[in-house]
Amino acid sequence: MYPSLEESRPIPAARRTRVKVSRALCLPLLFGVLSFSACQPEMPTPSAAPMQALSQQQDAELTRLERQAQIRPNDTRLALRGLLDKSAAGSLERLQIETARARLVAVLHDDAFNSALESDLAQWPDNPQSVAAHLLLLSIRADRLQEHGQMLEAHKLLEPLSRHEIDLNVVPLRLQFLTQTMLSRIDFALGRADESVAWAISSLSVADKMNESWRRATALSKLAAAYFGAQQLDRATDAAAQALREANKDPDPALLYEVYNTMGIVLQDPERNQDATNKALHYAELTANDNLIAQAHGNEADMLLDRHRYQDAIAHAETAIALSRRTGNLSQESVATHNMGLAKMALGRLQEGEQDVNHALEMSRSLGVDHYTASLLNEYGMALEKAGEPAKAIAAFHQYRQLIDQILREDSRKLVLEAQERFDAEQRAKAIELLNRDNALKNEQLRSSRLKLKLWIALGACIAVSMGLVASGYRRVHRTNQALATTNEALKIQAERDPLTGLANRRHFQSAIKALTQGGKLNGSLFLIDIDHFKRINDRFGHAAGDSVLVEVAQRIRAALRAEDLVVRWGGEEFLIVVASHDLTQAQVLAQRLLDLIGGTRVQHENRSIGVTASIGFACLPLAPFDLSLNWERAIDMVDTAMYLAKAHGRNKAYGVQALSAGDEAALVDIVAHLETAWQDQQVRLIALQGPPSWHEPQEVPA
Ligand code: GH3
Ligand code: MG
Ligand code: MG
Repeated sequence: MYPSLEESRPIPAARRTRVKVSRALCLPLLFGVLSFSACQPEMPTPSAAPMQALSQQQDAELTRLERQAQIRPNDTRLALRGLLDKSAAGSLERLQIETARARLVAVLHDDAFNSALESDLAQWPDNPQSVAAHLLLLSIRADRLQEHGQMLEAHKLLEPLSRHEIDLNVVPLRLQFLTQTMLSRIDFALGRADESVAWAISSLSVADKMNESWRRATALSKLAAAYFGAQQLDRATDAAAQALREANKDPDPALLYEVYNTMGIVLQDPERNQDATNKALHYAELTANDNLIAQAHGNEADMLLDRHRYQDAIAHAETAIALSRRTGNLSQESVATHNMGLAKMALGRLQEGEQDVNHALEMSRSLGVDHYTASLLNEYGMALEKAGEPAKAIAAFHQYRQLIDQILREDSRKLVLEAQERFDAEQRAKAIELLNRDNALKNEQLRSSRLKLKLWIALGACIAVSMGLVASGYRRVHRTNQALATTNEALKIQAERDPLTGLANRRHFQSAIKALTQGGKLNGSLFLIDIDHFKRINDRFGHAAGDSVLVEVAQRIRAALRAEDLVVRWGGEEFLIVVASHDLTQAQVLAQRLLDLIGGTRVQHENRSIGVTASIGFACLPLAPFDLSLNWERAIDMVDTAMYLAKAHGRNKAYGVQALSAGDEAALVDIVAHLETAWQDQQVRLIALQGPPSWHEPQEVPA
C-alpha cells in the first residue's frame, strides 16, 4: 500500500511498509532506467507566474492557511471564507483563495462546500484568469475521482495539463504546484513511474520559484516516492533525505509526518525504516488529526508484523481500529483488522485470527476495491500456509487468482478503450482537416485516415494492454487503498456516471451492453452523436459555456429517448445511444428528432445564445440485407465512420447505414474502410438526414 503523495489529505498508506522491492521488481520493467535527463523532454517547462495580485502579506497568510488545512480544516474553512467574501468576483486574488480552498475538498468531505467552490469556478467570467479557473475546477474534480480510486478518469480530466495544452504563464504558481503534485501522485498510482517523477520534478521547480521550504519538502517527498516506484532506490533515498532537510528548515507536524511516512517506504535499511515509521507516528500524534494518527498506527502495526513482533503489532492495530471507527474510515479499519488477524494467526490464535481476516475481507469487498481485496487474500493464503492449513491456503490462493484475473481483464479493457478514444479523436480531427483542404482527394484521404486510425488503435491496444499489466500488477503490490474511502454503493454510482452531464460513462456502458448483446452480438439500434465544431464553442465562449452546451445537449438527447434506452457520454463531446429496437424506420425518426432537438434551439449560457449542431452516424443491427450480426466494437466502428461521413458532407447531418452487402465481418470491415466509395458503388445504402436550418459554426446573438 502506498502512502499519500498529497500533503493536504489523509494519507491512505497503511500496509505500506510491507511493500517489498523484490516484489515490485517482478513486474515488467517497462520504465527501464530513469534519469533526470530521460525525464526532461517530457516535462512541462516551468514558466514564470503571472502577476500575483496578492500583497506579500496576503500571500503569506494564504500559504499559512494552505498548510494548516489538513490539521485544522474547520478553522481554515472559516478563515478562507472570510478572505473569499472580501475578494472581487473573477479576480486573480479570488483564484488564489479558491486554490487554497481546494485543499479542503479531500479533508472536509462536505458536498455543500464542494459545490459552492465548483460553481464559483464554473461561472468564472471570461477574463485572463478563466483558463486557470477551469484548470482548478478540473483538478478539484480529479482530486475527488482519485480519492475514490478512479485514477484513469482523474488523469483524463487533467489531460489538458499533461498534454501541455495549457499555457503555464496564465496559471499562478500556487495552482501549478497543486496540480503537478496531484499528477505526480495519479501517475504513480497508474504505474506510470516516469511521468510521476517528471511531475514531481516540475513541482519542485515551482517550489523553488516560490522559495518555500515546505513546498520543496513536499515535492521532494513525492519525488522520493516516485523514484521508489521507478525502482530507483538510491535516488529515492537521496530525495527523501533532501526532503527532510528542507522540512526541518520550516517544520510543522503534518509536513514531518509526510516526509517520515515516505521515508518509512523508501528506506530499505530495517533500522532506519523503523525509526522513520516511529517518527511518522510521533508527528501524526502532534497533528491531533485522528485520520493521520490512525494511519500512522496502522503503518506501525504493519512494520511490526514484518519484524515478527506480533503482540506489539496487535496493540497498534487495535488503536488504529478504534480511531478508524471514530472517523468512519472503513478502509483503514479493514487494513488494521487484517493486520491484527495475521498477527494473531502467527501467534497460533488461528480461529480468532481467521475471524479478523474474514471480517477485514468483508469490509474490503463491501468497499468494492478488488486490487486491495486480492492482496488481502494473497496474504491470508500465505498465513494459512505457514499455519499448516494447506487446504484452506489453496482455497484462499484460488480466490486470489480469480480476482487478479478479473482485475487484469477489466484494466486492460479500460485502458484499451481510453487509448482508442484518444487516438480516435486525434486521427479524426486530422483527417477532417485534410478533407476540407482538398476536396478532390477526399475519398482517398478518408480511406487512408481510417487505415491509419486502425493501425493506431492496434498499436494503442498493445501499449494499453501492457500498461494494464504493469498498472494492475503494480497496484496489486502496493495495494492502493485510495478507493476505500466511500461505501460500495456510492462508489459504484460515481464510477459509472459522467459527473458533468449525469449520463452513463464508458464503464457503465461496458456492463450495460451485455444486456443488449446476444452471444456477444449487438441487437438493436446504435447512434453516435458528435457535436459540431465544439472546440470553437470553447474557444469563443469559454469552457464554462462549453460545459453548459454539453449539459444541455445531454438533456436534449435524454429527452428524445425512453428511460430504458442506453445513453452514454462516449467522449468529450460525443454521445452514444443504444436502443433495443432494430426497426430502421424508428431509428430514422429518432435520428431526425435528435438532429432537430440539438440544432433546433440555441443554447443559452448566461446572457449569450449559442448555436449548436451535431453530426450523427447510426445503424440497426443485425445489418440488412444479410442479417449480419456484429459485436459492439465493430458496430461502433461502423456508425463512427458513418458519423464521420456526415461531418465530411457539411455537418448537422445524420447518416444511417441502411443496408450493406457484406455476408461476413471481413467483408464488412473492408467496406467500412472506404465507406464513401462503397456508397457510390452501391455496396452500401446510406440514409442521409439533414438537421434544422443551422449555423455552420457557433454564432453569438443577443439572447
Ligand atoms: P468536429 O465536431 O467538427 O469534429 O470538431 P470539434 O471541434 O467538435 O471536435 P474536436 O475533437 O476537435 O474537439 C473537441 C473538443 O472538445 C476538444 C476538447 O477540448 C473539448 N472538450 C472535451 N471535453 C470537454 C468538456 O468536458 N468540457 C468542455 N468545455 N470542452 C470539452
Ligand atoms: Mg469528437
Ligand atoms: Mg465534435
